[in-house]
Amino acid sequence: MTGRLAVIGLGPGEPDLLTPEACHALAGSELFFGYAGYLDRVTLRPDQRRVVSDNREEADRARDALERAAAGLKVAMVTGGDPGVFAMAAAVCEQIEAGPVDWRRLDVVILPGITAMLALAARVGAPLGHDFCVISLSDNLKPWEVVERRLDAAAMGGFAIALYNPRSRARPWQLGAAFERLRRHLPADTPTIFGRAVRRPDEAITVTTLGEADPAGADMATCVIVGSAATRVISRPGLPPLVYSPRIDSRAAR
Ligand code: SAH
Repeated sequence: MTGRLAVIGLGPGEPDLLTPEACHALAGSELFFGYAGYLDRVTLRPDQRRVVSDNREEADRARDALERAAAGLKVAMVTGGDPGVFAMAAAVCEQIEAGPVDWRRLDVVILPGITAMLALAARVGAPLGHDFCVISLSDNLKPWEVVERRLDAAAMGGFAIALYNPRSRARPWQLGAAFERLRRHLPADTPTIFGRAVRRPDEAITVTTLGEADPAGADMATCVIVGSAATRVISRPGLPPLVYSPRIDSRAAR
C-alpha cells in the first residue's frame, strides 16, 4: 500500500507552536480531513484538497480518511492541540480495530501537538508542576455519574485537575456542577484558572479561586485548571500572578 494516514496535532492555534514534524506532514499530504475550525488554520496549495466535516461525525470521518489512505492517497487528519487528547487519534484506532483487516497494514502515524492544558499552564506558571489529571466534562460520550466519580477521586487524591470541554450551549450546567463537587473536597482558596482561546489572537486568561469561580466565564474554547491544595499563587506588582504546584508536595492529599 502506498497511501498513509497522518493524524496531526496543530497545537493550540499560534503557528509558532506547530511542530516542524507536523509542518512537514502537512506539506506532504494530498487530502485533508477535519473539523472546519481546524482545517481553516491550514493554508492549502492548489494541489491539496480538503474534506470539511461536522465535529460530531468522528467515526464516519475516521472511516472515510482510512478508506482514502487505503486507496493510495497521502491523507492528513488534522486536530487542534494533540490528536491523542479528546480528539481523532482514538477514533482512528477504533475504526482500524473494527474495520477490514487490510487497514492494519496501513501506514498510520500520530503526530503530537501541544495540548490546551500545557499551553495554558505555561501562560500562568506551573500549575501542573506536580501530579495532575485531565477530565473532559462532556457527557456526550460517558455518563455524568462517571464524571462526578472521577472529580471526587481526583480531588481526594490531591491531583491538580485540567478540565476540557467545560461548557457549551448544549451543556450549560456541567461546569457549575463540577465546581460544586470539587468544593466538597478542596478549600475555597484553591487557585482556579480559566484559559480561553489560549495562544490565539483573542486569548483571555483569568486566575481566580475555586470559591469564586464563575462557570459563566467558560465556553467551549476554554480550558479550566483547578489546583490541588498545594497549588500556590505569587502576586507580582504590575504583572499577572504566577500560579504553581510545588515540586515537593507533602500536603496535597487531604
Ligand atoms: N485535542 C485538543 C482538545 C480537544 S477537546 C487539545 O489537545 O487541546 C476541545 C477542548 O479543548 C475545548 O473545549 C477546550 O476545553 C480545549 N481547548 C482546545 N484548544 C484550546 C485553546 N486554544 N485554549 C483553551 N482551551 C482549548
